[in-house]
Amino acid sequence: MLFNFDNSYARELEGFYAPIEGANAPSPTMLAFNEELAADLRLNARALNSLEGARILSGSLTPEGAQPLAMAYAGHQFGGFSPQLGDGRALLLGELIDTSGQRRDLHLKGSGRTPFSRGGDGKAVVGPVLREYLIGEAMHALGVPTTRALAAVATGEDVLREGPQPGAVLARIASSHLRVGTFQFFAARGEEERVKQLADYAIARHYPELLGAQTPYVGLLRAVMAAQAKLIAKWMGVGFVHGVMNTDNMTISGETIDYGPCAFIDAYSPKAVFSSIDQFGRYAFASQPAIANWNLARLAECLLGLIDKDDDEALRIATNTLAEFMPLYEAEWLAVMRAKLGLSTAENGDKALIEKLLSAMHTGRADFTQTFRALTTDGDVRALFAAEPEGYDNWRAAFEKRLRSEPLSPEQRAANMALVNPVYTPRNHMVEQALSAATEGNMEAFEALLAVVKSPFEHKPEYAHYAEPAPAGSAPYRTFCGT
Ligand code: AMP
Ligand code: MG
Repeated sequence: MLFNFDNSYARELEGFYAPIEGANAPSPTMLAFNEELAADLRLNARALNSLEGARILSGSLTPEGAQPLAMAYAGHQFGGFSPQLGDGRALLLGELIDTSGQRRDLHLKGSGRTPFSRGGDGKAVVGPVLREYLIGEAMHALGVPTTRALAAVATGEDVLREGPQPGAVLARIASSHLRVGTFQFFAARGEEERVKQLADYAIARHYPELLGAQTPYVGLLRAVMAAQAKLIAKWMGVGFVHGVMNTDNMTISGETIDYGPCAFIDAYSPKAVFSSIDQFGRYAFASQPAIANWNLARLAECLLGLIDKDDDEALRIATNTLAEFMPLYEAEWLAVMRAKLGLSTAENGDKALIEKLLSAMHTGRADFTQTFRALTTDGDVRALFAAEPEGYDNWRAAFEKRLRSEPLSPEQRAANMALVNPVYTPRNHMVEQALSAATEGNMEAFEALLAVVKSPFEHKPEYAHYAEPAPAGSAPYRTFCGT
């Protein structure tokens, strides 16, 4: 038997999904396979990285023990509520218990139509599937909680997008696929009992310390808030823009999910937006904490009936709890940014000091990743400021003053900083090159880039060009979703 599935979602949450098998792919072949993750999941990598494995991980063959299903969920997309989304091109194959005893979902994306497909074809194509693979692995290596790819399988079928594109399926691993939108699906229908069932399932799976608590549902809200505060702070620390922070793309576990029109910023700008459909910059880089807060308010609304029987009291408790998010986030963000600057102590002026640097970087169009790495290695930081480098000089003087109260030696500081300031992030132009070659059938650039982003903190002279931003004069980077 290839998998030792347990199917708690199927077993405990009947009515929360539609049982469905994957579509048959004409000629499944493995494009990429994550040996390391397979080992974490106690899977037999050699047996799975095979034709049989490609058939299973494309959804063409249902393995023994699996209970495939499409999950129901709703969601606010760009602020507007869709009461029915759900897995329109995905299915949950089953759950695996990994080497550390954690339950993880094995989920296929692009495996064919489901009762939630609406007008969609249920398919996915090579470029976006490999993008999700690559960015997920990069985020994991950067220490950011994330879903991860177990495999990308080419289906051997053309899928119609702007033109014909080679089809593919992503086999994805997640702590779970519970989303804010999963709660919204049932709350919007007034199915209070099901919201409770879902909350109890989420607590047992992700926050078991709340089992038996006096106020488990406020506890759940608080736990998700804490996980999201940590997550978003980490995004902000690596310059990551998710691009579609809809409530259906926000997990209860606190993992990053659904890499569509996402990107890493190069020249620093708080307004950075890459998604072609985000016309108003709702999901811009610096807006992400506020959007997380907004999404959490939507989760809180779903839980109101469980928080207190008295509506006013429930609202009062939820409002007070939600008010903890921004301070919580700010504390996480400060910790992330202090570490990036090698500050081992906390002082009142630190927030202003960090903001001063970011503001000089914005004016100077300084590359986000390179600036922090140059600060780490005592490189020529000033040269990274294309405009008004005096802004950097001013900051530097203030920073030197701040360093006087730091107990660590410069060597210790640099060593700590080297563990949190990457040399390599998936540079947008490199990602695009790798994905277009892969779409043409050449996986070399993808494999090379994947190897680079899997060791982001380790400087290697032969990888120098991976650390460079796009050449000056390149067109602004644009990403697309729903593909
Ligand atoms: P996403 O933008 O990937 O987060 O997806 C939003 C919603 O659209 C989810 O319900 C997806 O299942 C659905 N969806 C996206 N692409 C397709 C497709 N090609 N076929 C069916 N449903 C899709
Ligand atoms: Mg999604």
